[in-house]
Amino acid sequence: MMKIALAKGRLLDPSIKLFESLGYDLRGARDSRKLVIDDAAHGARFLIAKPMDVPIYVEYGAADAGIVGQDALREGSVNVYEPLVLDYGHCRLVVAGKPEYQNAEWRLLAGLRVATKYPRVTRQYFTARGLSSEIIEVYGSVELAPMVGLADLIVDVVDTGRTLRENGLVELDEIFKSQAAFIVNRAAHTLRVDEIRGLIEKIDGTRTNADERG
Ligand code: AMP
Repeated sequence: MMKIALAKGRLLDPSIKLFESLGYDLRGARDSRKLVIDDAAHGARFLIAKPMDVPIYVEYGAADAGIVGQDALREGSVNVYEPLVLDYGHCRLVVAGKPEYQNAEWRLLAGLRVATKYPRVTRQYFTARGLSSEIIEVYGSVELAPMVGLADLIVDVVDTGRTLRENGLVELDEIFKSQAAFIVNRAAHTLRVDEIRGLIEKIDGTRTNADERG
């Protein structure tokens, strides 16, 4: 069986639709308690995992392939093959804070506390600017941290920017853009080359068709 890890959350529904459009049977995948969905007819097993865990499953070969956001890939710093970027899950990883920081010089941000679910990327970003920030790892509702005095700044993903606005925060800088990516375990890519290549071509074909439809 080919094991494919799919990230939960925003990417799950479009990922299910992508495989359904290729004829796979993923009934049950939208049931939040079900973590494994088998499609025996296609020889596929889908694993539903937390986004940050998908790169790890694929790197260690617990899954042969997966779909996850590039934000989780960058944070995880894993050694996987990344043959395809997909046309959904667009977002941006940004530094945000209270409006008073909007036009502050960078050096004045030294020593500030930064709350994030992305400690590794955040550390790289601030270190590259010579800023010794204290990074506080939180697991959700990052936008809450400045409101309660836990942190001065946050690093988080934004889509429309609505969550930032509603919590009185403004974007200070963009770190990178992200979208969904199809990733493959390096060994599986070599050992199951035909199967993997076939799947990559099929997924790529759905993109081409969508492009042609305009
Ligand atoms: P928005 O209000 O549209 O800017 O969405 C921001 C909120 O949605 C933040 O709490 C983010 O953590 C989350 N979010 C936005 N885009 C994504 C994405 N592509 N993947 C995961 N979470 C996201």
